[in-house]
Amino acid sequence: MKRLLSVLPFIKNYFGGMITIFMLHRVSPFEQDKLFPNENMKVSPDFLDKFLADLKLKGYEFISIDRLYEILIKEEDVEKKVVITLDDGYKDNYEIAYPIFKKHNVPFCIYVTTSFPEKMAILWWYILEDLILENDIIKLSNGKIYECKTKEEKEQVFLEIRKIILSLPFQKDNLIKSLEDLFYDYKIDWMDKSKKNARELCLDWEEIVELSKDELCTIGGHTKNHYPLNRLSVEEIKAEILEANALLEKKIKKPIEHFAYPFGSKVEIGKREFHVVKNLGLKTATTTRPGTIYKEHKKFRECLPRIMLTEGFDINTVGNIRRQRIVTE
Ligand SMILES: [Zn+2]
Repeated sequence: MKRLLSVLPFIKNYFGGMITIFMLHRVSPFEQDKLFPNENMKVSPDFLDKFLADLKLKGYEFISIDRLYEILIKEEDVEKKVVITLDDGYKDNYEIAYPIFKKHNVPFCIYVTTSFPEKMAILWWYILEDLILENDIIKLSNGKIYECKTKEEKEQVFLEIRKIILSLPFQKDNLIKSLEDLFYDYKIDWMDKSKKNARELCLDWEEIVELSKDELCTIGGHTKNHYPLNRLSVEEIKAEILEANALLEKKIKKPIEHFAYPFGSKVEIGKREFHVVKNLGLKTATTTRPGTIYKEHKKFRECLPRIMLTEGFDINTVGNIRRQRIVTE
């Protein structure tokens, strides 16, 4: 019995971690007429507001990603620390989330994919959503025909076509050609539509510069084009990361020292990608693999796990997330 008791705190600590890094994408009210796979990238402003207040009441402290780095390097003993990160660079991060972070004095890190503010990103997931919402039948050039009259059907079809798009043979810089071929019947101008979507949905450089001037905000890198890194050569990976960071540095006039892998699950990144990033001399790099941060992560700062923050998330469940604490490959 005595032995069991002495092991228990270890188990709690093992799964609990001393710091939790949360991953968000968008903060915006849910739109009932839109499809859940895209809406799923959001938490509502009300939820974020309550979540931050609630965590403070429970004794959690929000820290910057730089402070997390310092804690790891100095091997400090801490607990109940939380880091907020937002991926990609959506406009609502500035318009909606930023005032909420200001209100609660909460530091946050935005990992920017530079094709977003450059208005060069192909936002196919929003174009596909519009296409499915506007049509009751979708015909692809591969011969597949989907009926999608109800919302449920439309969401199902979105998921099925998304799977097809993600499995297209990866052609660097040639995604538009593949999309044009797949949706041949629709004569969609993917670049033009993406530019329109980007104006509405993506941060612009002025907003990024303004955010970067606030000490609550850290701007991190998230590559130029958000490619799955496992499909690129080592040289291409380095170029994707370093060219994006250089552009960000030029714009905000501050060093870019933190990074998040695009996609970032076990499929898209592993030992090879971690090794490349480790040698770039960044302070930290985060994945989308679930887990919390332990002292041992000092040696594995190139593959820090995160927890995805979703609407209704309960902080008490973090301790139950049973994952490897250190992921190195
Ligand atoms: Zn991303």
